[in-house]
Amino acid sequence: MSFTLAIVGRPNVGKSTLFNRLVGKRLALVDDQPGVTRDLREGAARLGDLKFTIIDTAGLEMATDESLQGRMRMLTERAVEMADACLFLIDARAGVLPADEIFADILRKKSARVILGANKAEGAAGAAGMMEAFSLGLGEPLGLSAEHGEGMADLAAVLRPMI
Ligand code: GDP
Ligand code: MG
Repeated sequence: MSFTLAIVGRPNVGKSTLFNRLVGKRLALVDDQPGVTRDLREGAARLGDLKFTIIDTAGLEMATDESLQGRMRMLTERAVEMADACLFLIDARAGVLPADEIFADILRKKSARVILGANKAEGAAGAAGMMEAFSLGLGEPLGLSAEHGEGMADLAAVLRPMI
């Protein structure tokens, strides 16, 4: 049984960008295939010498405001149950939003093992959001840039002892 990491967080924080970076071309199914709706994508991730299974929670992007909360709660709970640990992403440029607090509560209620990541942290624009992330009460955030590949060694260092 492979170690499984679920990437969770509100839409647009960069979950799929990170998923794609870690999985590369090793995913058979493409999520934007017409007519294919996949709410949880699973892939074989590689990060340096580490190999593990990764889950991307998708499908929230299409939800309306009213259905978003229930839907994201259901999907996130399912992902947490499938995973050994969760990488909870926030957008360091946007800071901590009310929706992020909802995810933090879900993870706490589920007693999930959480790695907090402040994504989009490249450059200086993410500095304030990094500081705000401490207020989630989930420990020290990792500064990441899924798009530019920054913080990957730090992520590997946190994951290594878990795997
Ligand atoms: P998801 O909804 O959480 O899966 O987010 P996506 O992976 O689809 O990314 C949402 C947007 O954020 C896209 O336009 C990405 O190109 C952008 N994005 C993702 N990661 C980064 C990052 O590290 N830095 C910046 N500046 N933008 C990013
Ligand atoms: Mg996505």
